[in-house]
Amino acid sequence: MPDALALPAILDLPPAAARERLEAWVAQRQLPRYRVDQLVRRLWQAPVAAWTNATELPVALRAELDQELPLTRLALDVVEQSADGTRKYLWRLPDGEAIESVLIPSGSRRTLCISSQAGCALKCAFCATGTMGFRRNLSPFEIAGQVREIVLATPDDKPTNVVYMGMGEPLLNWPAVDTSLTVLNDPLGFGIGARHITVSTVGILPGMAAFAQRPEQFRLAISLHAPNDAQRAGIMPIQKKYPLSDVLSAAEAFRRRVTFEYVMIAGVNDADADADLLISYARRLGAFVNILPLHPGGAPGLVPTPVHRIRAFAARLRSAGVEAAVRRSRGLDINAACGQLKVEMERKRRAVRN
Ligand code: SF4
Repeated sequence: MPDALALPAILDLPPAAARERLEAWVAQRQLPRYRVDQLVRRLWQAPVAAWTNATELPVALRAELDQELPLTRLALDVVEQSADGTRKYLWRLPDGEAIESVLIPSGSRRTLCISSQAGCALKCAFCATGTMGFRRNLSPFEIAGQVREIVLATPDDKPTNVVYMGMGEPLLNWPAVDTSLTVLNDPLGFGIGARHITVSTVGILPGMAAFAQRPEQFRLAISLHAPNDAQRAGIMPIQKKYPLSDVLSAAEAFRRRVTFEYVMIAGVNDADADADLLISYARRLGAFVNILPLHPGGAPGLVPTPVHRIRAFAARLRSAGVEAAVRRSRGLDINAACGQLKVEMERKRRAVRN
């Protein structure tokens, strides 16, 4: 019998493998088979913080489960709620690293933006996470656990949509992201429809090829942010490794609806000529364009494009037949852009220490 502690944590497994592990565990103890369904349900569908809370199970069994198959947790460090309902969570991981998630309610939709890495190596000029540098990849549990913790706290807050747009580049942590996608989508997991799950990438080509192999209708978003090589290299160093033309070809090969993310930076990427190039790419791929106002304070040295100019840019896209939406900046009063809360907490901690 393998040493239980040497195996991956049960919540690091895709649901089918977790079920197999539980089947073996139940069989070894000669427990009735219906216990397997009861246990699997408590992983993601109706999660419990610890087995001891699964009151449908005998007390002795709960204690044994907590000992042998503990349910790993993310510790909530800070939660901030914006006046517009956006909620930002800072989670502390067992080794002291911190990651963020942002829950954005909008009508009946609750979109959770999740992190896939602690920090990020890619240093995009407009992103607070990029200033931290790379700390480490998250495990499958630490990624899907961001959803689990929110469901544990308030089942009614279960996200209807999940976007991998928090800290980190998901396609540089593909094995764990791959498993976490299964946990989010599988009916034995959270059962969130694939069309409601979006992976956002700067354009990591090997990861895009791996993601394209998944048969489910997961969505792909490309962080484009500049319409030509020189401009893009100025704000996204990854451009040197994976040039825009190759990223667009990979997105074309994805053969599903793609979204372009485009953060508007005054004097950098907001000219009519930039819009025209963006139009040509969006037409070629049938892509939807998400226009994002730059989050004030998230990027030293960069200035948000004025609102009237953002509107004109969007109107130019639409008049060329490109579907485009201007996203409202959410959670401005709580630093809700990716990495901002973590950067702010570190700043405060340093100030207290000095
Ligand atoms: S925008 Fe994404 S890829 Fe770029 S530095 Fe921030 S977290 Fe990394």
